[in-house]
Order: sequence, then C-alpha cells, then structure tokens
Amino acid sequence: MGSGSSAALKLLSALAALGACERPLPMREAQTQAEQLRDLALAKSRAHDWTRELADGVGARLAGTPGDAKAVAWAEAKMRAIGLANVHTEPVAVTHWERGVETGEVTFPSKQPLALTALGGSVPTPAQATEAEVVELRSLEETDLLPEDKLRGKIAFFNRAMERTRTGEGYGKVSPIRRSGASKAAARGAVGMLMRSLSTAENRLPHTGAMEYEAGAPKVPAAALSVSDADLLHRLLAIGGPIRVRFTLGCRSLPDAQSANVVGEVVGREKPDQVVLIGAHLDSWDLATGALDDGVGVGMVLEVGRLIAQLQPHPRRTIRIVLFANEEHGLNGAHAYARAHESELERHVAALELDHGTGKAYAVAYLGGPNAASVMNEICVPLGSLGLSPPTSGTRGGADLIPLHPSGVPMISLLQDGTYYFDIHHSADDTFDKVDSAAMSQTVAAAAVLIYGLAESRDDLGRVPEAQRTRQP
Ligand SMILES: [Zn+2]
Repeated sequence: MGSGSSAALKLLSALAALGACERPLPMREAQTQAEQLRDLALAKSRAHDWTRELADGVGARLAGTPGDAKAVAWAEAKMRAIGLANVHTEPVAVTHWERGVETGEVTFPSKQPLALTALGGSVPTPAQATEAEVVELRSLEETDLLPEDKLRGKIAFFNRAMERTRTGEGYGKVSPIRRSGASKAAARGAVGMLMRSLSTAENRLPHTGAMEYEAGAPKVPAAALSVSDADLLHRLLAIGGPIRVRFTLGCRSLPDAQSANVVGEVVGREKPDQVVLIGAHLDSWDLATGALDDGVGVGMVLEVGRLIAQLQPHPRRTIRIVLFANEEHGLNGAHAYARAHESELERHVAALELDHGTGKAYAVAYLGGPNAASVMNEICVPLGSLGLSPPTSGTRGGADLIPLHPSGVPMISLLQDGTYYFDIHHSADDTFDKVDSAAMSQTVAAAAVLIYGLAESRDDLGRVPEAQRTRQP
C-alpha cells in the first residue's frame, strides 16, 4: 500500500476513535471500568500517603495562620504531581482567630485543675481571669426557664453528653449549645460560658469548635471542658453548695486573612463543561494536625482524582477536585466557591464531600431529580462487594456544599462509620496514628466508583426540586 492509503487509514481510525469518544461507553464497559477502578483503589490507594504528608508534614492549619498558607501551597503542588489538569488557587478571605494561653481551675470548695480549651471565635477573659460561681444547665432552652437572676454574675456550665452513633447524628443534636450557648447565657447576665466538650471520648482532652456571638448580647469568654472535668463539676454541684471556677483565655480575633480554595480537574472527554465535584476541607483546628478532620478527606479526594486521571479515555464529564478553605470557622471557602462559580452551578451535575473521618463507608445517600434513583442504582452496582447497602434518597451533603443547595445541585453522601470519630474530632488527639489505612482504601474505592459513574453515566441526576432545596444560610 502507498503512503496515501496508509494516511487515509490513519484518518479513518482516528475518526472512529473520535466517534467512540462522543458517546457514552456501553453500560457494561463503563461498569467494568468502575470495577477496575475499585479494585485498583483497594490494592494501591495512596490516600494515606497524602494524608500523612499533610498532617505530619504541614501540620495544623487553622484559617489565616502560616500552617494554612503552607497547606495551600502543598495542595497545589500535590495536585500537579498526581496528574490533575487546570490546577489553580482561588482567593478566599478567611476568619482569623488565634488561641493563646488557656488555664482553668476549681477554686472552691477545693482547688482542682480543669482541662479546657477556648471555643473558636471566643473573646479572651479579662486580664485577671474570669472567676465566678458555676450554674449547671442541660440545654439552651433551660436558660429561658431559669429565674431572672439565676445566671447574673455566674459562669453558665452547659453539661449535655453527646451520644455515640454510627451516623454521627449525636453531634448535630448538641452542637447548637456550642454555637449559641455563650450569647444565650450572657443575655441572662452570665460572665462566662463553659460547656462539656462535644465528644464521645472518656478522657481529659477538651474539644474545640466554632461558636458565634449574637448581635445585642454581651460577648463573654467561652470554653469547652474535657468530659472528665465536666463530670467532676457535675459531681461537685450534686453535693450542693456553691462551686467556684476561675479560667483564663488569651485568644484573640484578628482582621480577616487571605487563604485560598485549591482546585484541580480531570477534564471530561465529551462534556467538559459539566462538572462532578468532589471536595474536602483543607483547613483544620489548631490543637493537633487535623489528620482525621479533614486530612483523610483531603487524602481520599486527591487519590480519587489521581486514579481517574490515569484512565484512558477520561470519563465524559469533568471531575473537579476542590479543597475548601476554612470550613471550620465560617465556611468561607464554600461561600467563595459558590460565588466565583455562580454562572456554572447549573452545570454542576453532582457534588460529594468527604469530611467524616477514617471509618469505612457503609452506604450512599443522594438527593436529585425524579429520575435520580435509576441512575444511582446503576452507578452503585460495583459497591455491593465493598459491603455498602443500596443507595437511598435524602441527604444534605457536606457542610461545604450548603451554598450549592439553592442552585439545585444534586447532593451525594458517602456515609462513613462515625462510631469513634467524635472521640478524636477537634481535639489534641487528631493525629495521623488514628488513621485506618484499610478503611481509607475501601472509602477511596467507593468514592472512585461513584465519581466515575456520575461523570460517565449516560443520564444525569436532574436537579433537586425547588421544594427540597434549602435556602442559603
Ligand atoms: Zn471537618
């Protein structure tokens, strides 16, 4: 054959390849691809390596601190190194609050040290400390039922235990105390707020987390006690008679700082403008290295990106990996993302965030349009062998996805076993030795199957019906 016909053949085969690219893979082929991805993740996931680099190498990364900036630089370089495309940062103004010295003790009837830590956003105590009698409360509602003067000049002590559950739903039931307890108590004249840590552990480590002051209420210092110390105060109060506590917090709020969301993609072969988002948050609290919250989420979503970027051909739609800035103390990155991408949210066909620690995935939940069930059932077939139950409808998705709700973006949740997560969460115990590598590989495998399936599927999940969208907070 002459060179002319060889060129024609090449052209023909190129056209054929192009034609193949313009159609979804046959269902069976897509499923085989998803199964191979799953098995590769189980055998060779590098997610724990990425998490170790972030937790041990970068360390704590509270918004606005040098650790935060270091994490952004690390994430951008890592995305490039693992083969993602269009890697870039998007600027985010973040809340900047720093912890200082923190001490606590019972001063009457006997002297006892207390293990406590400031809640994120708290004002400091006066220079000479806050010292007052303690009044125990079980709930926010109880503050309203107290006699008018009961909290005046006192320290309000919210003592409500968190339930241990696989879903982690115990956290949502008690977290309003952390958010609003200080202002609720201050409105009734309290001079300080202490709370039992939102923790399921039985040790002397206090757990921090964000609080907010309500407009109009005086700002009083707020701290979390370790569970053991909350129990101590409870026992002392149960005997009767006054109990006095003294505590100092040296924390302070600074002007907003600059941080960034870090973004990378696997560009879709056929519908590159349609986006399947998979995210985690890059920031952490400052008491430890944020290995579980959310270092593992970061490691897992990067690994999903790496594994899918290696596929040829790429899935039909674009997969966008987003590492959000400052989830912990204001969701600044989440809001900045929704604003910056407002014009393309209509083309976000699904979003998933991993932010629930290192436990194994056990189920998938989703929220989409009327036809979402059939698409999800098909995509989730390869998950059976990972021990996941069939997908069910109904989820709000991760915290960083809340600002996407008004646009009707379908939400996906990969439910992970959270039985022990809240032993560690937001405490000094959140270090890399707690990471369960095998469970992480299983979760990466499940997430890769889901994200690949959503990006390759011939149908999408539609849009969340108006009535099921929640308004932007
Ligand atoms: Zn988190």
